Formats: sequence, structure tokens, C-alpha cells
Amino acid sequence: MCHHPQMRRAKGVMPMALWSSLAAQVAAIAPRTECWFSFCGEPLLEPELLVNMLRHGKSLGLESLNVNTNGLLLTEPVAVSLLESGADLIVIGIDGFSKATYEAARLGSDRDVVYANVERLLALRRERADGPEIQVQFIAMADNAHEMQPFCDYWLQRGATLKVRNQLSWGGKFQTPLAVPAADRIPCPWALTMMHVFWDGRVPRCPGDTEGEEGVGNAWEVPVSELWARLGGYRELHLQHRFDELPPRCLACTDWMTGAAQRIRPAGERHA
Ligand code: SF4
Repeated sequence: MCHHPQMRRAKGVMPMALWSSLAAQVAAIAPRTECWFSFCGEPLLEPELLVNMLRHGKSLGLESLNVNTNGLLLTEPVAVSLLESGADLIVIGIDGFSKATYEAARLGSDRDVVYANVERLLALRRERADGPEIQVQFIAMADNAHEMQPFCDYWLQRGATLKVRNQLSWGGKFQTPLAVPAADRIPCPWALTMMHVFWDGRVPRCPGDTEGEEGVGNAWEVPVSELWARLGGYRELHLQHRFDELPPRCLACTDWMTGAAQRIRPAGERHA
């Protein structure tokens, strides 16, 4: 389900200078914009940099700083730093309840370590008056669908919010079971709401384009508002249902079908 093992573009770490520039621009124009520290990379590989970036973003007035992690490196010191960083939301991708199902989907990980890490994060947050919302994500697939109910019951009892979603094809790279007739096509939610900035500043036209094969510019050189504007013509095609005028990638892709994730919050959750 993850394109990372096949990804050909160079891997790297976004420098603080690029994040500082992006954060200042976004804070000046639209501070409620959701800023996500995720995209074909694991943010907890660089925990100190991540926490510094979160703190800096918060100091500039950004109101929605979101971390998406696999949870494997969420040790106690990292969990404490994250809770104190100003992050508004921490999402942990888990996708399985039993050890066998989890580890078949998340190769190289350890179900028991991740479950213990997330439970400790939840316990540490409970000790505080305030803190980020903590969501556990379950991407429904053929091999794990039978574990969705026990997964939901387990994490709701422990105070996590559930985030349940359909599998993405990542711009047509993977087969998914979704099959909505072309006549019922809707504007792609990814195209309408999202813009990725790769670690090296490149911005792809499509949020599912993990290789950056269709770029619209580089955030080191172009203001973020201009980059967003360059995507406006594609958003118009989606909104006007002129789907046959979209680039070929959009014609082969099924990701417009995935819809929004469903979120289920535990009783009494203060972030509801
Ligand atoms: S429909 Fe187009 S913009 Fe949307 S995810 Fe697929 S390729 Fe990207």
C-alpha cells in the first residue's frame, strides 16, 4: 500500500530554512491551513528537527500543525517532546490489530512496540491539561478488513480517535477495490484541498504524484501563494466536471473515489 520502497526520487530531509520560509508565508496568509509533516517519509527519523519545526510554526501563529507517523520510533522522550511541541494533531498509521495482520501490512515494524508506544503517548497526554488530538489510522484493505471492529473497540477504550479510510492508489500506482462509475465522477478531493512540498522544495501538480513527475515549481524560488495559484486551473477543471480535459494521470487514477476519512471520537473527547 506504500510506494516508498519503489520511490526513485532522491530521499532527503527538509531543511529548517525551507520550513521557516513556508511557515512564515502560510502564517501571514492563512494561519488555519493544515500543515502536515508527512509525505512518503517518516518524521520521527528526525525527532529533534521535527519538534523544532513544530515549535517554530506555533510561534508564528500556525493553528493546525499535524504529524503523521508509523509510531515505531515514538519512544517516551520523543512522545514528551511532541506533546510539548505545539502539535495540534498526531496521527499514527497502524492498519492492523493482530500481530500477523499488522506486520504483514507494515513490513519491518513490530506490532507490540507500536501498540505500547501509542498507549504510552495516550497515557502521557491524559496526565496533561491540554495536548494534541491523537488519532489511530486504519486503512481498510482486503487483508485487514476483518480486524477493523476489534481495532476500533481497542483504541476507543484507550481514548484515541479513530481515523478510518479507504486505500489510495497513489495516483494510479496501485490497484484498489473501489469502483465508482465514470458517470458519477466527482472533483478530486486531493486536488481541491492539498499541495505537497517535497523536502527539496519541489511541488508536484498532483498530491498523489510521489515521484514529482509533473511539477509546478519549487518553493525555494516561488512564493507558496503563487504555487497554489498555479494549481488553480486544475482545480477549476475538477470543479466544472471537465474531467476529460485533465492530464492523463487523472484519467487513470481512482483516488478521487476514496472520499474523506471517517473519524470516530471516544466519549468525552475534548477535541470533538
Ligand atoms: S484524480 Fe488527478 S489530482 Fe486527484 S489524485 Fe488522481 S491523479 Fe491526482
